[in-house]
Amino acid sequence: MDEFDLIRRYFDRPVLDDSVRLGVGDDGAVLVTDPGCELVTVIDTLVEGVHYPVNLQPDAIGYRSVAVNLSDVAAMGARPRWMTLALTLVDANETWLDGFAAGLYAAAQEYDVSLVGGDTTRGSQVVISIQITGDVNAGMSISRSGASPGDLVFVSGTIGDAAAGLVLIKAGDVSTPEQQFLVDRFCRPTARVSLGRLLSGVASAAIDVSDGLFSDAHKLLSSSGVGGRIEADRLPLSPALKNTCSDDEALQFALTGGDDYELCFTVRPDDEQTVMMLSEQCKVPVAHIGEVEEGSRLFCTRAGNTIEIDHGGYRHF
Ligand code: ADP
Ligand code: MG
Repeated sequence: MDEFDLIRRYFDRPVLDDSVRLGVGDDGAVLVTDPGCELVTVIDTLVEGVHYPVNLQPDAIGYRSVAVNLSDVAAMGARPRWMTLALTLVDANETWLDGFAAGLYAAAQEYDVSLVGGDTTRGSQVVISIQITGDVNAGMSISRSGASPGDLVFVSGTIGDAAAGLVLIKAGDVSTPEQQFLVDRFCRPTARVSLGRLLSGVASAAIDVSDGLFSDAHKLLSSSGVGGRIEADRLPLSPALKNTCSDDEALQFALTGGDDYELCFTVRPDDEQTVMMLSEQCKVPVAHIGEVEEGSRLFCTRAGNTIEIDHGGYRHF
């Protein structure tokens, strides 16, 4: 199978979206934008062994590669529309490609994004780069920089699950339904696209939680030129996480474990009711976990006392 057979066979499924005038097969994709919209473009690369363990199921790798990008689009309050895939493979293993493409297209279908192009190369390691372009009504994207003192800090879903799931995957130890739940949270993260879109015009700032809540919340606050406080007792933890780990471990996963792909966002205090209503509308739970304050530091308190967080988030270099 040469490169062109591979593309035809795995990455050239028919595109149903009218906005794609030309997709896979030409030198470039031609896309039709909606008037009054701005484009939001994101890219994320997954390196085998760095972003996922080598033994992860190929369909989980495919799904996850798309979901992590969708999560960035969600954090911007935008609607994902088109994606390109730059794939570096060590060999053209058909079983791997079948699984990978199935996972990738499952996520694409679920979130209504079209694969419109890419690049396929051979290398010494699997590297997957996905770029997604989305759109948002002009002026309505959400940035990291709009938080101000007094705003409330929220997080969606439950956090810490994926980091616990990754430990289980690495240990190869998955036997109970609760362990499986945690593993699935790593393999098939839920990009909060509908919540992100609803938060456009409501949230003062947003970021998706990829490196760890504490580190990502700190990035949001730094971009906004403010500090804040997170109350550990308010963090939304899943029953599976609580039943699988000790309290301290669960807290550590929730604050510093990455890969949750939940949204952390801030809102003006007056908008709390609106947020609860939007959360109900898209059926994504949200939790009020802290406050934005003057300054530049992010504090975490537990039962009223400040606790030290050994964070930093994931750093490549
Ligand atoms: P070019 O030489 O012009 O870059 P290629 O031969 O690399 O074109 O690719 C042929 C077509 O297949 C292009 O439309 C490209 O976007 C698409 N393509 C290549 N690899 C992938 C992939 N992994 N997934 C989706 N589309 C791909
Ligand atoms: Mg070309």
